[in-house]
Parts: sequence; structure tokens; C-alpha cells
Amino acid sequence: MSLNDKKPGKRPLYVYTLVAVVVILILNMLVLPTIQERSVEKTDYTTFLKNVDQGNVTKAEIQDDYIYYVVEKDGAKTVCRTVRMEDSQLVDRLYAAGTSMEVVEPQKPSILLNLLAGYLIPILIFVFLGRWISKKMMNSMGNGGPGGMMSFGKSNAKVYVKSTNGIKFSDVAGEDEAKELLTEIVDYLHNPHKYADIGASMPKGALLVGPPGTGKTLLAKAVAGEAEVPFFSISGSEFVEMFVGMGAAKVRDLFKQANEKAPCIVFIDEIDTIGKKRDGAGFSGGNDEREQTLNQLLTEMDGFDGSKGVVILAATNRPDSLDPALLRPGRFDRRIPVELPDLQGREEILKVHAKKIKISDSVRFDEIAKAAAGASGAELANIVNEAALRAVRDGRRFATQADFEESIEVVIAGYQKKNRVLSNKEKLIVSYHEIGHALVAAKQTDSAPVHKITIIPRTSGALGYTMQVDEQEHYLMSKEELENKIATFTGGRAAEELIFHSITTGASNDIEQATKIARAMITRYGMSDAFDMVAMESMSNQYLGGDSSLTCSFETQTLLDKKVVELVRRQHEKATRILTENMDKLHELAKFLYEQETITGEEFMKILNGPSGSAEA
Ligand code: ADP
Ligand code: MG
Ligand code: ZN
Repeated sequence: MSLNDKKPGKRPLYVYTLVAVVVILILNMLVLPTIQERSVEKTDYTTFLKNVDQGNVTKAEIQDDYIYYVVEKDGAKTVCRTVRMEDSQLVDRLYAAGTSMEVVEPQKPSILLNLLAGYLIPILIFVFLGRWISKKMMNSMGNGGPGGMMSFGKSNAKVYVKSTNGIKFSDVAGEDEAKELLTEIVDYLHNPHKYADIGASMPKGALLVGPPGTGKTLLAKAVAGEAEVPFFSISGSEFVEMFVGMGAAKVRDLFKQANEKAPCIVFIDEIDTIGKKRDGAGFSGGNDEREQTLNQLLTEMDGFDGSKGVVILAATNRPDSLDPALLRPGRFDRRIPVELPDLQGREEILKVHAKKIKISDSVRFDEIAKAAAGASGAELANIVNEAALRAVRDGRRFATQADFEESIEVVIAGYQKKNRVLSNKEKLIVSYHEIGHALVAAKQTDSAPVHKITIIPRTSGALGYTMQVDEQEHYLMSKEELENKIATFTGGRAAEELIFHSITTGASNDIEQATKIARAMITRYGMSDAFDMVAMESMSNQYLGGDSSLTCSFETQTLLDKKVVELVRRQHEKATRILTENMDKLHELAKFLYEQETITGEEFMKILNGPSGSAEA
């Protein structure tokens, strides 16, 4: 068959032969009987009886359900079949008519038909199927049709050029630093000779590092868009294939194509998937594939001529897990940090995305940006979209400030859970808890004022939440500010203790946060007398929440734990003191929140600074 000479997959010939034989047999079993069936004429019982009486029936075979019989009339011989009826005289009748009762063989179809149906057609089907498959394979080798399962065999040289959708630097808001660093690469791609003439060689690779959703992928596309060069893009996870050896083959293909299309950009997204540190121990044999792919990548990077105009960009959010070999000079030696946007950056990103939707003129982006502290570019894009969705849901044609404020909470704190009902007692506890946080925060001089307090439960599991907004962006935190933060976290529990004399599970998140800060103060910021400026912990994975590992002895750890407890307890006591001193305000505010479910920062401050009992007014 034509399959064999087209170097198909790795499946040997005998598999195909076996399949073919089986299919032919099955067809034989199915097709031949039907052909035979067709040559039998179906008649009704009356016709049968008539034929018997006329003496035309020469043979008859009585089966359980059917009677097969042969009619000879005018020299022609027909095999017929009729349904068998309950007929006690049948045998007598047949006997009288001189019919021989023997097995009736349906007429054999002609040998030609037999051959045709049983063998030739299946073989033809196979030939065509084979042709079709090999054609498909040729196609996907040629122009990079979707690979998928059908394109078995080698990596069939997919073309990796992706469209950048005309993305330019102007589509990336904020991130000025990263853009500046990348501008040089754009210039180089525009005019490689300028650099080659002077003898300067561009770094082969640049690594975009930063937390998820900060626009790394977007920036890489923008570089290609600005430079107007082909953009070869592949994600690290695409290398990890189901067939062994495919990853390395893909890398080879990718660079071969890139070399042909230079100047161009090769972008490897999520490079950590293949570029993880290789562990010498080799415990887990399963990582062989990844290692091969990585080795191939290193080889290719070393192998190609830096002056040709191929720039390799890669992105990752875990730079410290990358294999050091990747970061060696001559490989990804340029690191481009893509950090979370600051206040101004957030505002710009919001504006870029808000261009795509209709908004009312009263929307204040600076306010929204302020409230969305810590949000990444992707989250901000999501906030804008959520706001638009909310406007549609409410039948408005423009998104308003309120839409944005609500969507911040949706994106950051999870959806409002309207159907989750708290009992009144629970609601009261949550009210006091949240006011406890807010009151402690407000009464400490360095603490940020509250922006909004709500006891509407969120899908994220938080029953209520106090949103604090820093007036200005903080980069340095003083010891006092950190201590105040801890006190604020303990404020919720402190209020519960003071009012209800019992404690609930509601403070679990607060406890976690407070502990984190307290620990960091001692182990990393050198803010305790006991350990002075000695680092007790080293951080890794800083972009993904951070993993820390202790770097101190066992005895020190015990002491460290004790110090953390002391620190938190001191702040907890401070929070309790603040609340006791402001007991009437605590009651008043909690009652107000209980009734309103949501109060804004202004309302809060008004009650706090107003005369006692003003909430009733
Ligand atoms: P990363 O690759 O860093 O995880 P992406 O580049 O995939 O993040 O960003 C996801 C989306 O977030 C982008 O498509 C874009 O809509 C939005 N986004 C992120 N950062 C920015 C930014 N600085 N300016 C505009 N949009 C951004
Ligand atoms: Mg990405
Ligand atoms: Zn709390």
C-alpha cells in the first residue's frame, strides 16, 4: 500500500497488514450475507400457497420462522422466502404437490460480485485512506497546519510565527523602565548593521521577570510589533510533549526557522517549565525529557551567530528557579524586571483598557487606581471589563464610578454572595469584628484610614472586609507602621473578645497575616533586639508569594518563635486597649454597620469624629 513507501510514523508494516486483514474479514462477514439475502425474493404466504398448488414449487425448506422455497416457472428458477404461518396442513399440501423437502441454498452471487464486494472494495478503501493520511502528513510538514494527534512522527516543522495583533509599546501602560530597556533591542532589530559595524554584539537573550499578569507576554509582543519583525513564540509547556525527544526537536526547528527569517524575535514564554534547575542527583528519571530540551536550547543559543539579528526573549515569574546555565553571559544575560504597577502605572493601565469600553465622564481613574493597590495589569484589565459587564447587567449604557468600585471588590475580594445569609448573631459578630479592625487602624496615627467596610460575604470566603487605602504608595515601612499593622489585624479578634467574651474562627486570615508580618520583622528586617541585624531567613520565589527557608540553628528557631508570639501579643494587647478606650464608638459604629451592611470611609470618620450618639440622628 502506498503508506509504506511514504515513511509514515513509527508503526511497523505488520500492524497495518493485520488491521487490513481484520477489516476485510469483517466486511466479508457483513457484506456477503446481505448480497445473498438480496437475491432471495420475499413473498407473502398466499403467494407461496398459490405457487405450491400450481405445482411451481420444486423445493422447500421449513425453518422456525421462515420458509425458503424454489419456484420454477417458465424455465426460470427463483429462490423465495415467506414468513412461516401456523398451518397444520402444510406438509400434506407440499407432499401432494410433489415438492421435495430439502435444504434450500440461496443462490450464490456471481464470483465477480463476490470478489468485488469482499476483497476489492475494502482494499480500495485502504489504498485511498492511506493516500489521504500521507497527504495530510505532507501538508502539515509543509505549512504548519495544526499539529495535533494526526500528525504523528517527528515534530513536523511547525511554523511558530505568531501574530502580534499590531501591539505596540503604547498598548503597554506603565512599565517605563522595561520599555526603555527593550527600546534598545527594537533599535537593534531595525538596524542590525549599525551595531555590527562598530563591532558591538547585542545580548542574545533578554529575560523578562516579574509576577504573573504584569504584561510580560504583552511586552514581548510589543517589541516585535515595534520592530516590525517576525515573532516566533512558543510556551515552555508546549515543549513538554507526549512523545520523548519531541521537545528537543521542536527547539531545533524553532531556531532553524528563526535563522532563516532573521532579523526576528524568538519568544519563549514561561521558560521555567523547561529551564528549571537541573538537580545533580537525578532521582526522578522522568525529567529526562525536560533536561534534553533545555540542553538543546542552550546548544542552540550558543550556536547561532549573534550578529544576525535574532533576539531571544523569555518570560518567567520564577527567575530564581531557573538553571544557572541559562543566565550565563551569552545567553539570557539581560534581565528586565516587569514589576507590579505603581499608583500612576495603575491609572495609566486603567485608562488604556477603559478606551475599549464606554464610561461616564464622572469616572475618576485616580481614585480607582488608589483603591486597587497591589493589582496587576491583568487584574486591572479585568476590573475594567467587570465594570462594563456590571453596567450591562444593570441596563446602563455607560460604566460609572460605582461600577468600577464594585468590580474592584469583585476582582480582588471575590463576588458578592447575595444568597449566603448570615444569622443575625453572626452578622453582629462580624460587624464588631470589622469595626474592631477599622477602629484600631484609625486610632493609630500612622495607620491608613479605612476606605470601606462591608459585611456582605464574598465568594472568596471572607465574611466581611475592611478595605484600607494608603494615601501614598509606601516603599519603606517603619517598625512602628508594621507594628500598627499587626495591631490592626488583631483588632477584629480583640473586639470579639471584649464584646462577646468568646472567640470565633473568623480571624484565621488575620492571624496568618499578623504572623507573617511579625515573623518577617524579626527574621528579615532586623527589627528585634534579640537578633539585631542577623538574617534568619532567606527568601526565594519572591514573585509568587515567596517561599522562605530558615537559616538558623534549632535553638534559635525556638527563641525566634517565642519572640514572634511576644510581638503579636503586645500588639494584640494594644488593640484591646484602644478598643476599650473607645468602647462607645465601637458600639455605635458596629450598630451602624450592622444596619447598613456597608459603610464608606467618610461615614466611618464622621461617626468616629462626631459627638456620641450621632448615628441615630
Ligand atoms: P504576564 O505574561 O506577565 O503574565 P500578560 O502579558 O499575559 O501578563 O498580561 C495579561 C493581560 O493583562 C494583557 O493581555 C493585558 O490586557 C493586561 N496587562 C498587563 N499588564 C499591562 C500593562 N502594563 N498595560 C496594559 N495592559 C496590561
Ligand atoms: Mg504571560
Ligand atoms: Zn478580620
